[in-house]
Amino acid sequence: MFEGLSTRLSGILDRLKGRGALSEADVQEAMREVRRALLEADVALEVVRSFTDKVRDRAVGAEVLKSVTPGQMVVKIVHDTLVDTLGTDGVAIDLVAVPPVPIMMVGLQGSGKTTTTAKIAKRLFEKQKKKVLMASLDTRRPAAMEQLASLGKQIGVDTLPIVTGQSPVQIARRAIEAGRLGGYDVVMLDTAGRTHVDEAMMMEVAEVERAAKPHETLLVVDSLTGQDAVNVARSFTGRVNVTGVVLTRVDGDGRGGAALSMRAVTGKPIKLLGTGEKMDGLEDFHPSRVANRILGMGDIVSLVEKAAESIDAEQGMAIARKMQQGKFDLDDLGQQLDQMLKIGGMQGLMGMLPGMKQAKQQLASANMDDKVIKRQRAVIQAMTRWERRNPKEIDGKRRRRIAKGSGTSPEEVNKLLKMHRGMADMMKSMGGAQGKRGPMAGLA
Ligand code: GDP
Ligand code: MG
Repeated sequence: MFEGLSTRLSGILDRLKGRGALSEADVQEAMREVRRALLEADVALEVVRSFTDKVRDRAVGAEVLKSVTPGQMVVKIVHDTLVDTLGTDGVAIDLVAVPPVPIMMVGLQGSGKTTTTAKIAKRLFEKQKKKVLMASLDTRRPAAMEQLASLGKQIGVDTLPIVTGQSPVQIARRAIEAGRLGGYDVVMLDTAGRTHVDEAMMMEVAEVERAAKPHETLLVVDSLTGQDAVNVARSFTGRVNVTGVVLTRVDGDGRGGAALSMRAVTGKPIKLLGTGEKMDGLEDFHPSRVANRILGMGDIVSLVEKAAESIDAEQGMAIARKMQQGKFDLDDLGQQLDQMLKIGGMQGLMGMLPGMKQAKQQLASANMDDKVIKRQRAVIQAMTRWERRNPKEIDGKRRRRIAKGSGTSPEEVNKLLKMHRGMADMMKSMGGAQGKRGPMAGLA
């Protein structure tokens, strides 16, 4: 029976009594389990190798925090590395171009190109109110063109009238011309696949690419084809400019390994998931969900969340101690910003610190989204160590230098310094009040 990775890791690592840093040997043993779990999840062998190397680098020497077990710590590192490797959450199809925006679909026969073409068209039409034209470039199987036409009728999206005797390139040109004349926003080109990668197919898609200059080229891959999918992805990315991946038949794939392989091999974002034969079987891609599936157990989410909470709480406590001693410097602020980026907002972090309502409001009113936080992080990074420890000493000349070094403006540097000052003052006064109740008061 398939046993969840986290259970296995806990089994191995939690026998270890020692606290402190994870040793090379502990991690080595854990990595054997990680490797096995990834292979069971159908991750390509070469990807498993580079992935476990990455996890090892992060894990060896990592402090095992008081509140989690070594097993939880490694599971957390594996989970975070999976999420990092899987890439960004919900990367949308890019339609920012002069209409009609051409989107080309490529992939093997049977991977789900035609179905996905129609699913995407439906979504663009219904959710984004786009006028979409679909065209089948499959000249090898007449049934393929009819399949698309019938799907088009079903979802209420136009298809290019079928004209026999034209080459794929000719059809592509005709589709784009029809798109222009008909005032369409998007033209979707459904190319012909083959049962396996061959030169004829590659030449064909490369020619269509030259003729149609697609704004997006989406590679459609069947997640059930496992190891093979990697070779397919490599062939296509070598010949055309793939801008994103759609993984289909995710509904039949309980393991999720294909996503990791695809992302690692192509370096392209996974944009969508096909989750059924029906036209509404299309979902956005969420790295953390796939990571949980790969880790292979239901309670992994809560386990990882628990570990993350404890880890954040411990770091939070260390910062809280410094605050109360009036030693909250820009390094600490930088650490907080990092955490905010990690947990996607300040809610989680601030919630753990005592009496942080005001600071929370201050940050919220400063409109702290990821972009802002990243810029602030850059400002702090452009400072010298001495400056980070002695923010009061940062004069006009230093501000200008920091602004230049971080690609921001002196005003932004000022704003950050002001925010830090505000937080530090508030914390100092809070610290005074809490000092009487012991340093950890309020940190339940
Ligand atoms: P193409 O040759 O690449 O154009 O593949 P098709 O779009 O014709 O799809 C081949 C088969 O896979 C059809 O029977 C589809 O209904 C089915 N299919 C496509 N996408 C999915 C999916 O996400 N889940 C499931 N279960 N079936 C799918
Ligand atoms: Mg097809």
